[in-house]
Amino acid sequence: MNILWLQSAGCGGCTMSLLCAENPNVFDLLNGAGLEFLWHPALSLETGSEVRALLSKVESGEIALDILCVEGSIVRGPNGTGRFHMLAGTGRSMLDWVQSLAPLAQHVVAVGTCATYGGVTSAGENPSDAVGLQYDGTHKGGALAANFRSRSGMPVVNVAGCPTHPDWVTETLLLLAAGALDHTALDGFGRPRFYADNLVHHACPKNEFYEYKASATNLSEIGCMMEHLGCVGTQAVGDCNIRGWNGEGSCTRAGYPCINCTAPEFEEPGHKFTETPKFAGIPVGLPSDMPKAWFMALASLSKAATPHRIGVNATSDRISVPPSLKKTKP
Ligand code: SF4
Ligand code: SF4
Repeated sequence: MNILWLQSAGCGGCTMSLLCAENPNVFDLLNGAGLEFLWHPALSLETGSEVRALLSKVESGEIALDILCVEGSIVRGPNGTGRFHMLAGTGRSMLDWVQSLAPLAQHVVAVGTCATYGGVTSAGENPSDAVGLQYDGTHKGGALAANFRSRSGMPVVNVAGCPTHPDWVTETLLLLAAGALDHTALDGFGRPRFYADNLVHHACPKNEFYEYKASATNLSEIGCMMEHLGCVGTQAVGDCNIRGWNGEGSCTRAGYPCINCTAPEFEEPGHKFTETPKFAGIPVGLPSDMPKAWFMALASLSKAATPHRIGVNATSDRISVPPSLKKTKP
């Protein structure tokens, strides 16, 4: 299968992330699955007239398009023309190209939260009118219509994340190539469930602190970051702490709160990313599927039961109280 990859209004970080695929690297992995790039703006040698000729052949149907990947949001301004972002040398906007090519593709894949829901590019007053491919934030309908379907009958596959994990992209492409990803494998926001059925909270190394609501108060401390530092790992989808990044990392493993970058409108939480909004001292955003009354009851119980070791370590920048040794029988 071939892949045409277009980079629209984003930072290019999702391609940078893709290059971090390892064991095997992204090229060996895709080649092994019979996938090849028709063209990728950063990874292919072709440029200028060669690319224009290629796009014409795809558009005319001379080259069948298997997978269209789009990275970055689609700019619709000014006034719906998309001319704030022209595809250089073609005299046409990226909006125009995407709307023309997407119906020709067997599958359309939005790579990263800019391409899925608008992401960082659409933050603030959004003067460029940036949107995702099939979503405008949480609302269906972006550069493509809400009811858009590719030739396979699938909606846009939304590989959200800012940046998105390299394995989420390669696994999606491999599943599509194998005919093993249908609409039942996507969640309510079009994200592949193989990673979106997990929460970032799963396998976070701070889970012991979370159990007792033993909380960090500053970014350098090792306690749970939910209560004071804005972590929404209990609500954010992603297997970041199970699969790891670059072999082992994740935001919370590195001591930074999860900011829910796989979700629509994560870019504007309405408060600082590193602050937990509270009402009467209680965090406003509660863990997914947790009734408020239960959370409050459990939180106060577990705080009362916090072992000395966990309470002290939570506000330390390293383990200062080790686990006590289990007494052995004489
Ligand atoms: S989703 Fe994030 S990393 Fe990817 S292009 Fe947009 S801003 Fe960059
Ligand atoms: S830091 Fe966040 S992800 Fe980790 S245990 Fe606390 S709430 Fe969960």
